[in-house]
Amino acid sequence: MSADLTTISVAEASRRLAAGETSAVALLRAHLDKIASGDASIRAFLAIDEADALARAAASDARRAAGRPLSALDGVPVALKDNIAVRGQRLSCASKILENFVSPYDATVVAKLDAAGAVIFGRLNMDEFAMGSSCENSAFAKTTNPWDTSRIPGGSSGGSAASVAAGFTPAALGSDTGGSIRQPAGHCGVVGLKPTYGRVSRYGLAAYASSLDQIGPVARTVEDCALLLEVISGRDAHDGTSLSNPVEAYADAARAKVLPKVVGLPAEYFAEGLDPAVRDAVLAAADWYRAQGCEIRHISLPTVAHAIPAYYIIATAEASSNLSRYDGIRYTRRSERATDAVDVFAKSRGEFFGPEVKKRVILGSFTLSAGFYDAYYGRAQKVRTLIREDFRKAFADGVDVILSPIAPTPAFKLGEKTSDPLSMYLSDLYTISANLAGLPALSLPCGFADANGGSGKKLPIGLQLTGRPLGEAPLLAAAAAYEAAHPYAGQVAPLV
Ligand code: GLN
Repeated sequence: MSADLTTISVAEASRRLAAGETSAVALLRAHLDKIASGDASIRAFLAIDEADALARAAASDARRAAGRPLSALDGVPVALKDNIAVRGQRLSCASKILENFVSPYDATVVAKLDAAGAVIFGRLNMDEFAMGSSCENSAFAKTTNPWDTSRIPGGSSGGSAASVAAGFTPAALGSDTGGSIRQPAGHCGVVGLKPTYGRVSRYGLAAYASSLDQIGPVARTVEDCALLLEVISGRDAHDGTSLSNPVEAYADAARAKVLPKVVGLPAEYFAEGLDPAVRDAVLAAADWYRAQGCEIRHISLPTVAHAIPAYYIIATAEASSNLSRYDGIRYTRRSERATDAVDVFAKSRGEFFGPEVKKRVILGSFTLSAGFYDAYYGRAQKVRTLIREDFRKAFADGVDVILSPIAPTPAFKLGEKTSDPLSMYLSDLYTISANLAGLPALSLPCGFADANGGSGKKLPIGLQLTGRPLGEAPLLAAAAAYEAAHPYAGQVAPLV
């Protein structure tokens, strides 16, 4: 019974709770037990306040017993990336500089989940301040991939994807600035959605690059992501960039499984550097859409060739500004070696920021500085406009969704790319354009590759679908149609 509870979807958990077949406390306990036995090798969680989580679950059961569940999600466990604020809980962003920081307030997504009765629990590992693609930049732990623990889970929301893949939680929230929800979801064989920029409030998300950051769901099915999106979306007075467009019935859209009329295949996403196993699995998915009667159209997004340099200029520029608040005076740990005010700033940041964060703050300060601003930041913004325009044209010409890989290769080995930042940055090739253009995009499993070395382990391959601005409903429908016809959905990884 207990093992069973850790493999079911959010939708199924919701059904069982409504039918009285299980309780929120039993559901949470089953997941906590699985974490206790399995997370020593995965290290998805940085912290879990069990007493708080059990109190939330018990409150949910009491509401249900009184006949007053708050929503279909009442009693369903949801774990959070460690950059999303929960009042009274530590918010470290996997950084030593925030090691002792306790959030005084709830992020809007947390308040919304809470109002829906979801049982919020656990702090999930991530790359420090969400800077990375492998989770290896965490100051506290190296999360592994539940399909092959010698490999990375992806990043930066590596803990979110790994915990869902491992059956430690039916769903989690992550954040995506340049692929950080989708790429780990792809590497861990789960579904991850980055919503349209502004669809979900960023209030209470520790900012990395504010013009790119979005919070989104990670779960084992498309419908589950839709259920979560419906709860966390909407206009928020605390975030001026949040959109007031009505929140749609995303879960209904996922259940309707309406196929797109035209699926675009961008030539630039199938070029050099793409692993043959990934290419075959992704093109097989395109063939499946064709066989259902969708038109497969070859398109070009010429400017995406410049997306990586543009992204790493814009993201680091914004990061250098956003991270200036961690000054050794407010929020943060303070160096004990500091002797005066300026020293507090320099020594605290020097001691408690990790190397990747320092590199990016330095890079961002440089590209924003007088004399270099136009040459770097200004030009990157122009490239961003052109990328946005490439996508706009494709959608204006009738393409409904754009199909591509999520990452050029399946999950790589721990340590494989840590000394080669360029190759690490290049692995973001297919994901960052959706952030630069503000578009919704999701990752879903489309097959497995064999891990080399005759280990017999299987590595998930992720398929990316990108939609029109605010086109989450048709995007989820297109993904759910594919998912329903393929056996990859909802699998829990073997933790090998
Ligand atoms: N890998 C990218 C980076 O390091 C994206 C990270 C993210 O989306 N937060 O910036």
